[in-house]
Amino acid sequence: MSANWIQDVAARYRAATGSSRSVLSTARSQRSPQLIVSPFASEVRNLSRAPLVYEEQSLLDEALEILPLERLYSGAEQAAEKDDSWGMQDHLILALLKWFRNDFFTWVNEPACTNCLDSQTAAIGGAAPTHQELADGAARVELYECKSCKTIVRFPRYGHPRKLLSFRKGRCGEWANCFTLLCRSLGSRARWVWCAEDHVWTEVYSETKKRWIHADSCETAWDQPRLYEQGWGKKMSYAIAFSADGATDVSRRYIRTEGGQLPRNRIPESELVMTLQAITRERRIALSASEKADLEHEDSAEERELQSYVSQSTPASTAELRPRETGAGEWTEARGENGKRRY
Ligand SMILES: [Zn+2]
Repeated sequence: MSANWIQDVAARYRAATGSSRSVLSTARSQRSPQLIVSPFASEVRNLSRAPLVYEEQSLLDEALEILPLERLYSGAEQAAEKDDSWGMQDHLILALLKWFRNDFFTWVNEPACTNCLDSQTAAIGGAAPTHQELADGAARVELYECKSCKTIVRFPRYGHPRKLLSFRKGRCGEWANCFTLLCRSLGSRARWVWCAEDHVWTEVYSETKKRWIHADSCETAWDQPRLYEQGWGKKMSYAIAFSADGATDVSRRYIRTEGGQLPRNRIPESELVMTLQAITRERRIALSASEKADLEHEDSAEERELQSYVSQSTPASTAELRPRETGAGEWTEARGENGKRRY
């Protein structure tokens, strides 16, 4: 397929979803004075910068070039004919979810031996990244030793999605990072969701449903926000969604039962609200009045949705009642995510 054709599709879909604006440079230069008190607020601020990379046009173009667009679009079209409760763009992300897990990305518990290939390795600690690993976005490197030939295998944990487009492996951090970029490259508005209890996932805005949809690339999960607490038995305190448009506390979407909630004691609630509001204001500073109004309208609708989860309790769907699929048994058990601690 020609590069021109890809560019056309990119332009068409970004135009259709109105997500081509570039606000980063201005938003960055006009950041308001810092009023940080608690370390958690500072951590949230750092995290909020992660998804800004998904707005870089050259990276979006690179991502688009590796996608099997014809396959994704034809899959989405077929699915849309059978199920019109979701829009075409939603079906496209669903097709992306399946392709990403089945054909593109690989889960790594321990990397395979680079010498004898299929022998198992065992973790022996960490190492400083090389200049190249650092340049490619790996802040840390895990070391493994082959159980048979004793070769030492490096496993760099890449945090930059550009490298992940070719590296194509990792754990939930790498999966969510790369998948969120690909959602953006297909023209969907996407959020990177950080959970304080060591998990990250994606949310994609559905123009058809007019709400943010949970999407977990590790589990091929779509619109199953109770998967973690009901299926995995995961206990959580904070889940915060970040995008180029701001930061939102989405904990109520994912933590809906008393038994699933860990204490929210890392920051006074009022300070968290103020921190997220400040981030959101900064991200939107360069938008037009009507763009800001649209986003504020959307924020209010989301707040009503999140509020409804507190006042009503609906049973989880069958799809949400499943233990974690990616990750070795011991690993998920150690994290309390194997579904045995279900409530
Ligand atoms: Zn070996």
